[in-house]
Amino acid sequence: MISVQKLVKRYGSGPRGSNAVDDVSFEVDKGEVVGFLGPNGAGKSTTLRILSGFLGMTSGKVTVAGHDIREQSFEARQKIGYMPEAVPLYPEMRVAEYLAFRAELKRVPRRDRAGFVDDAMQKANVDDVANVLIGNLSKGYRQRVGLADALVARPPLLILDEPTAGLDPNQIREVREVIRDLGKEHTVLLSTHILSEVEASCSRVIVIAKGKLVAEGTMEDLSRKRRAAGLVLVVRGDKERALAAVGAVPGIAKVTCEDPPATSAGTHELRCAWQKKLDDAGTAGAIEQAVAALVAAGCFVREVRAVRSSLEEVFAELTSSAAPVPLDPEPPPEAPADPEATS
Ligand code: ATP
Repeated sequence: MISVQKLVKRYGSGPRGSNAVDDVSFEVDKGEVVGFLGPNGAGKSTTLRILSGFLGMTSGKVTVAGHDIREQSFEARQKIGYMPEAVPLYPEMRVAEYLAFRAELKRVPRRDRAGFVDDAMQKANVDDVANVLIGNLSKGYRQRVGLADALVARPPLLILDEPTAGLDPNQIREVREVIRDLGKEHTVLLSTHILSEVEASCSRVIVIAKGKLVAEGTMEDLSRKRRAAGLVLVVRGDKERALAAVGAVPGIAKVTCEDPPATSAGTHELRCAWQKKLDDAGTAGAIEQAVAALVAAGCFVREVRAVRSSLEEVFAELTSSAAPVPLDPEPPPEAPADPEATS
């Protein structure tokens, strides 16, 4: 449905100019709901505006439903419903009236207009305010009128730029629900700088930072990038002996234990941090050794819990480096676990 190849957008000229979008390539297939994720200033809006035909590119090639966005701009734009970050609405118009006006601009035949407007209002969940002045609507409703606008000519592809920006939690939930429903009938590309937005609405994610594509894959692929961040051991026995035993295990950089005074007698929660660069095999070996060392020190192990980095941390890592990171499943560790080899 969308094909983007080596897209570049340069703002300014000469040495003062910079690439807001820098050699970005990706595809979006029919029926997908794809999240375009990146921190502020990453180049999301610029890319989406180019895809929607509102901004020219410096170089590259973009096709929408097989139409080249430069050579067949009209045909390409007819396939797209675009909702910009700041939806330009007319506050003095009523919702249905505004949407009929937009349908006319988008060349929806006169005989179809009323039906298309009704349908768009229903899908965007604004039919209860059809006769309300846009200027009197809450921000959440206005955002959904922007969605209805994007939908009104029944385009197969929706491009939504930060559709929940500036909304309160209830409004965010409502807009997300609408987007999830829209994904059943439309291909959707939506931008956001909020990871949970992608989790809530999207089947796949494209991550950009500083104008470059840094990762691409499903949410499961992104989740696989979560690193082993540490280990929690709940033990019963002498606290100092437990700390000394675990602290001596190769691969464990630091052990702490800050039991609150009310902790049940004799049990302690040890928090271990891994040494940097410890791989999966090393981690497994260190866990085995830690448990063995505790038992040898006369302690009883009640619980062993691996702690992994959060998706937010994965996102922060991806977007703080500009180098592409494949989100393919990680290859298995090269060597089998060998506890002796971790020191
Ligand atoms: P946000 O989430 O803050 O909207 P974004 O990922 O959508 O960010 P863009 O708005 O595409 O990012 O901006 C990308 C970069 O291009 C930023 O550094 C921005 O300052 C710059 N930029 C955007 N529009 C222009 C312009 N018209 N002229 C010059 N630079 C611009």
